[in-house]
Amino acid sequence: MKQEKETGHEQGMQGIRCAHCDLPIEARDELAVAGRTFTLSSMEPMHVRCYAEAAKEFKAVSLGSEPLNGPIYTTKAALAGVAAVVLAMLTSFGPLRWVISAILLIPLLRRAASWVLLERRLPPE
Ligand SMILES: [Zn+2]
Repeated sequence: MKQEKETGHEQGMQGIRCAHCDLPIEARDELAVAGRTFTLSSMEPMHVRCYAEAAKEFKAVSLGSEPLNGPIYTTKAALAGVAAVVLAMLTSFGPLRWVISAILLIPLLRRAASWVLLERRLPPE
C-alpha cells in the first residue's frame, strides 16, 4: 500500500474505496465510476480492472457498458446535453419537450456528479 500523500488537500476527506474489492483507489486513472441505475446517487467507485470484472458479473443488472468517467460516456452525455438544448428551443413540440430535455440532461448531471464527488478527490495519476 502506498503512503498517504502529504498534500493537506486530502485532509478531512475520506478515501475512496473500491465498491468491488474494498481497497482504496489512489489515482484518477485507476478509477472507473459505475452507475447501476439511472439516478444521480447510485454511483460506485471501482478500480478499472474491478469494473471490468463487475461488468461481467452484473451484466443483467444494467451496470452499463462503460464507466461514467470514461470517454464514451462523456461523449454520450455531452451529445445528450446538446440535444436537450436544441429540443428546448423547438417550440413546436410544446411543453412535453421540457420533460424530454430534462431526461436528456440526466447523463450530463451524472457525469458532473461523478467528477465532483469522486474524480476531483483523486490525484490525476
Ligand atoms: Zn477494486
